[in-house]
Amino acid sequence: MNVADSLRVASALEKMGYEDTAKAKDADVIILNTCVVRQSAEDKAIGRLSSLRPLKTENPNLVINLMGCMVGVKDNPVLRKRFPYVDVFSPPSDPLPLVRHLLEKEGRDLELDETFTRFAMMDGDLLLPAHDKNNLVSSFIPVVLGCSHACTYCIIPYRRGIEKSRPPQDILAEAQSMADQGVKEITLLGQIVDRYGKDNPDYPTLGGLMRRLHTIQGIERIRFLTSHPSYMTEELLDTVGEFPKIMPHIEVPIQAGNDEVLETMRRGYTNSQYRELVQKIRERIPGVSIATDIIVGFPGETEAQFQDTYDLLSDLKLDVAHLARYSPREGTVSARRMEDNVPDEEKWRRFRVLEDLQEGIAAQIHNGYLGKTVPVLFEEKSKKGRWRGRSETNKLVFAESDENLLGKLLQVEITWSGPWSMLGQIAA
Ligand code: SAH
Repeated sequence: MNVADSLRVASALEKMGYEDTAKAKDADVIILNTCVVRQSAEDKAIGRLSSLRPLKTENPNLVINLMGCMVGVKDNPVLRKRFPYVDVFSPPSDPLPLVRHLLEKEGRDLELDETFTRFAMMDGDLLLPAHDKNNLVSSFIPVVLGCSHACTYCIIPYRRGIEKSRPPQDILAEAQSMADQGVKEITLLGQIVDRYGKDNPDYPTLGGLMRRLHTIQGIERIRFLTSHPSYMTEELLDTVGEFPKIMPHIEVPIQAGNDEVLETMRRGYTNSQYRELVQKIRERIPGVSIATDIIVGFPGETEAQFQDTYDLLSDLKLDVAHLARYSPREGTVSARRMEDNVPDEEKWRRFRVLEDLQEGIAAQIHNGYLGKTVPVLFEEKSKKGRWRGRSETNKLVFAESDENLLGKLLQVEITWSGPWSMLGQIAA
């Protein structure tokens, strides 16, 4: 989501005549787009922000913009006081405070600059920054902003505001404009992307939206993330199964395998419901890959409860598990009312146990690709000089070639596989 938000800001600034620069010390404007989902992310953001202070002292004309979840949707006087050298504070997904500040700084009349403000808003008129034009193969489109769920551990609803689906015509216009600028793959984003349209009776479902996006020429692949288990309808699964440009890859976090923990997390489903869902996804989408998110060491999580998570991963053999150690976030229900009582070493131990398990599962799944030929969309030349791409199931595939494979969708024979990636040869 932050990559998409940053792209939007870069796009707005290029439209105003700014260019990107490789070094922070050469910049007139620095935007720090932040994540605070875990303490480690927040620490990183604060460290980075503090490192910018000397630049501002050296060059008082420098504009520093702090953006994203560290700021949040409400005015944040504590933050303003703590970082007086920050010129502009912007909520997530919103380039307007910065655009306004820069226009005012240039002494321009905001009334006359309607085009700029209109452009900066999410109306689908997205111009890719110069270095991305005809270069960016895969891009993100936020379709649901904010989140109104109340998972007890999660800070996102407090920082990104209430759930709001974007109008379908804006999303279609944005996808079309990306296609016109060379983008081949779009990934639709939402904290709970399968809730798309549920906040507005005039909007289609996520399945309906993707069926419309499917008609856009130039867009060859459509992905979406992240889904919540409770909102994965059969209509959505059938749409993914039937429409060839919609990739057979589902990101659907379980967070924990134990029903009591799920209840205290307020996730709204049980272990067995999740297992049934995985079965249904596999029945309706042939060859599907499935990714999940897990939090270990949630307040009160016992060894036996953790074992339920282990057993679930061991039984279901999902393709990917994004693992996190529980991190109490200020203002959330779990931070206010539950003691963070699983010691850090124990969180790490559970993390590593799951990591080892999942590494074995992934290696085994990837082994099944050996000798098979699969379509790969190439996105980038890696530092080692190999081309990097993704299979339909979102597997990382590397291939050697002297030709320019950027944006090419090619058949690749898999010749080597490991737990995190595969190597292949371009098929004749
Ligand atoms: N909205 C999405 C994912 C957003 S955050 C969803 O609900 O699935 C990405 C992941 O960060 C979450 O899935 C969760 O596993 C993790 N996460 C969120 N809050 C956390 C916390 N307080 N401590 C540790 N991990 C957390």
